[in-house]
Amino acid sequence: MISGKTRLLALIGQPVGHSLSPRMHNAAFAADGLDFVYVCLDVDPDDLPAAVEGAAVLKLRGFNITMPHKRAMIPLLDELDEGARISGAVNTVVIEDYTLRGYNTDGGGMVMACKEAGIELAGKRVLLLGAGGAAAAVALAFGREGVGELHIVNRSTEHATELRDKLREAGLKKVEVYSFNALDAAAQETEVVVNATPLGMKDGDPLPVPVEHLHEGRAVCDAVYRPGRETALIREARERGARVVTGERMLLYQGVLAQRLWTGWEPNVEAMDAAIS
Ligand code: NAP
Repeated sequence: MISGKTRLLALIGQPVGHSLSPRMHNAAFAADGLDFVYVCLDVDPDDLPAAVEGAAVLKLRGFNITMPHKRAMIPLLDELDEGARISGAVNTVVIEDYTLRGYNTDGGGMVMACKEAGIELAGKRVLLLGAGGAAAAVALAFGREGVGELHIVNRSTEHATELRDKLREAGLKKVEVYSFNALDAAAQETEVVVNATPLGMKDGDPLPVPVEHLHEGRAVCDAVYRPGRETALIREARERGARVVTGERMLLYQGVLAQRLWTGWEPNVEAMDAAIS
């Protein structure tokens, strides 16, 4: 029940109508009787600064940020955590006394999803497809878990090289960059494959990695999610005996981490999970 003291949370993006986040967060608040409500706000790119200022003066507790604003948010914030600073992308903001703190919980969400699937990351050789915000956040979070080697394959080798340099500065020493043409070399002896490109979002998208690289003994993690549908990457990997982590599990756990930041409570993961399953 919404009360006079209900704290407001939001997803700011465009489009936002398809998002599972309101269902996921509100289910946990209802289950545990927390006085928060989460809504979707469709904001035009040009209006982002005004929307963020509005969120602060209206004393929202915080918000999530999604496409196309994840990068444009950075200069509008007062403080950034390491994940947001290095990835150059924010997905969670906490507001306290008009101070806006930006976080990136996407990488931590993928790590939690891997742990749930029984995938050990320490010392592993990882093939990372993509070098955008999600890829950077995952790379950093995997680095904190002690992955052994990170092999980045990206459409633009320039973007991948920039990411490699930032990761090395952050302390990840064994990071290599490849073009898609050199994917076979990058995939050699890989133990964990991560898709952090948008390939798989649309019907007819090619697989981000050829099927011969999806097999038993490997873990395949997809950042992409399509509500109610498995991506082709996850389907092919599962059929070939690989362990899989879907984008839905990453979404769930990035939400768990965001909710912890906003409420200070341990989120009701069961309620959140049931709401999006
Ligand atoms: P981004 O910052 O725009 O980065 C996109 C990356 O994918 C870039 O490296 C880009 O390469 C590459 N790419 C784009 N189109 C491509 C194509 N047609 N073929 C090959 N590579 C392509 O996006 P992002 O925020 O990292 O998001 C990536 C995906 O992760 C999206 O599908 C997003 O929905 C998903 N995601 C999911 C979660 C979750 O909770 N499950 C959280 C965050 C993101 P260039 O560098 O060459 O441009």
